[in-house]
Parts: sequence; structure tokens; C-alpha cells
Amino acid sequence: MQLADRVNRISISPTAAVLAAAERYRAQGVDLADFGPGEPDFPTPDHIKRAAIRALDENRTKYTPTAGIGPLREAICRWHAAQFGSSYTVPECVVTVGGKHAIFNAFCSLLGAGDEVLIPAPYWVSYPDMVMYTGATPVPVMTDPSDGFRLRAEQVARAITPRTKLLIVNSPSNPSGAVVPPDEFARIYEVCRAKNIWLMTDECYSHFLYGKEKPFSLASLPGTKPNIIVAGSLSKTFAMTGWRVGYALAPEPLISAMIKLQSQSTSNATSIAQYAALEALTGPMDTVAVMLAEYARRRDRIVAGLRAIPGVTCTEPGGAFYAFPSVAAHLGNGVADTTALAKQLLERQHLVVVPGDAFGTPGYIRISYATSIDRIEEGLRRLEKFFAMAESAT
Ligand code: PLP
Repeated sequence: MQLADRVNRISISPTAAVLAAAERYRAQGVDLADFGPGEPDFPTPDHIKRAAIRALDENRTKYTPTAGIGPLREAICRWHAAQFGSSYTVPECVVTVGGKHAIFNAFCSLLGAGDEVLIPAPYWVSYPDMVMYTGATPVPVMTDPSDGFRLRAEQVARAITPRTKLLIVNSPSNPSGAVVPPDEFARIYEVCRAKNIWLMTDECYSHFLYGKEKPFSLASLPGTKPNIIVAGSLSKTFAMTGWRVGYALAPEPLISAMIKLQSQSTSNATSIAQYAALEALTGPMDTVAVMLAEYARRRDRIVAGLRAIPGVTCTEPGGAFYAFPSVAAHLGNGVADTTALAKQLLERQHLVVVPGDAFGTPGYIRISYATSIDRIEEGLRRLEKFFAMAESAT
């Protein structure tokens, strides 16, 4: 079949491919230890669910304005101001079908053939494909494992060419958990501003922080607004991945372009989900703290467990809910790369991990700790057993 070039340029998300393979085992009743999930294992808080039920009862089931219901756009601006100190207004805000949609629509509205987009590696798997879909070229910017994969302004400066149009920064990062310190973020912004380059900040994991840092947005720094795009999501912070609500905050002409694009494609995000999101952003946030305390406990356990396995090294992730250990010492001898390793771990130990190759960093695997301490212990046992067996076979 002759498909369009733009769709032939991209591939199905490799994380989705791993999770689909795991699903086949699960369907056969296999007891999987699952370090794959890219979503909280907590349910959506009750008060948010009740708001959706109320919206249904009140028949709020019709089209809404493309950009989202007015009260939600206002709530997003107010919540962002309260959490981070930004100053966006409703015309600078659009409600999208998840954070992914915000990023995709912003890319489609800004990028085209000849443009280059800087993507710090390790990166979220979707960025390069979304860039390629627009006809632009993704340019990976390698970060340093010995620096905890934190992006540095000098690394950005070195990668800029006359064609560079945009840099995307995801802090805390999926997959490494790296957090860019605010002062470094400001330096990175300055490098971009001086060259008239857009900086998109993907704040999907903004609240998942385990160190001393407070949630931070570049939008809190005075004067940044004209050059930055905030991509936000309710998915992780409020355990709402399936509801599909996200947003973008950006200069009004760009938001207008994104609304225009949305008006000819998805239209509005689901009406009921928007009312649930309104409750999430205006109601109590105490469940977020409860969730974070549990993630902090799991992070400590998993990092200690990984470091105890011979040949595995792991920097401490400052945020998100992933550990990103190096298993390079275990490659070779029939396991060519981490894609092959992930396949063997699934087949032989029924352990699900995501290969680092997918994130632009061969030699690493992504371990999600969005699972219970019991399952973390079980997964660690299986990982250790796999490497010990491989070792004794050589
Ligand atoms: N950005 C990053 C780094 C992610 O990991 C994800 C989801 O996994 C998203 C954005 C998009 O999330 P959603 O579309 O559910 O808001």
C-alpha cells in the first residue's frame, strides 16, 4: 500500500511494542514482574472521579469549545501560577488530548523541512518521531551519565546550528529521572534566547521530585514567555493517564495556530474529562503528596537493589518514576544490545524492562518503579538471577 511519506517516516512507539509483547504473556496467565509501566499504579483520586460522574449526570456530554471549556483554561493558568509563579492568561492556553497532543500540535504548528530540533538524550521515545513527522530533523544532544544525565547549557550551545529551531527539555526526565537545576535551566534558556531558538519545556513529571528541589517551571523566570512553550499534563500528577487531558501554554499566536489545527482534527478534549481536570486543578492536592511519599520509598529500594547486582551501575534519579541503570557490562556473549536483553528477560524470566536503545542510549534499561515494593523485590530477584545464569553460562 502506498502510504504518505510523513507516516512512513515514523515508527510505532518502541515502548508500546515492549508492552504489547508483555501483554501477550499476561493474557496467557503468566506471572510477570513488570518494570514497564509509564504510568502511576495509583487510581485517579475519588474527588476527581466524582466530578466526572457529576458532569455526566448534568449531561455535559456535548462538544465544548475547541480550546477547552473556559473555566478549565482559567484553572490551568491559575494552577500553573500558584504552583510555579508563571503569569499566563486564557488566550495563551489550550486544553489538549494529553500532553503528547500538546507537543505534537506545537511541533506541527512550528516545524517543517530544513528545521533542526535539539533533543537531549536519553529522550522520551516520541520526540524524534514527532519531529520527523513534521519533516524537520531531530538532533540528539548526548548528556553525561557521570553527571546524572543532567542537560548542561554548554552541551546545548555546542549542538546549535543556523537551522536549529527548537530545543525540548524534559525535567524530571523520562527515562533517566534527571532533574535540570533551576540555575542551569536559566542558562540553557539564555543560550536559546540569544539565538532566537524556541525552548519547549515538557513538564509532564514536574511534581515527581525526591530531593530538596521544589517543582520548577522555566515560565516562572521573568521575560521567558515569548520564547518558551510549556507542555503540561494531568496524566501523571493526578494519576489520570486514561482521561487524556493536557495543555499548552505559549504566546497567543502559537496557541491560536494550535487551536486552528485542533479544530480541524481532534476538536475538543473529552467534555467529561475536562470537568474532571477542572476538579483536579482546583480541588485538594493531598493525594499527590501521598503518592510521592510512596514513590520515594520505592525509588530508594530499587536503586539500592540495582546497585547490589554485579555489573549494574545506577545513578540516583532525582525525579519521575524511573531508574535508568547501565547493564553494558552484561552485553556481548549472545546478547547484542538492550533490545535483545529485554526480549530475553521477558522470555526467560518473565520480567518486563524497556531497552535503552529506544531512548537513544544503548547499554541502559529503563526500570519503572510505578509498582508495589513486593513486585520490585520480585523483579530485582529475576534480574539478578538472569545475569547470574548468563555469567555462569560463559
Ligand atoms: N512527556 C513525557 C516525557 C512522557 O513520558 C509522557 C508520557 O509518558 C508524555 C509527555 C505524555 O503524556 P500524556 O499524553 O499522557 O499527557
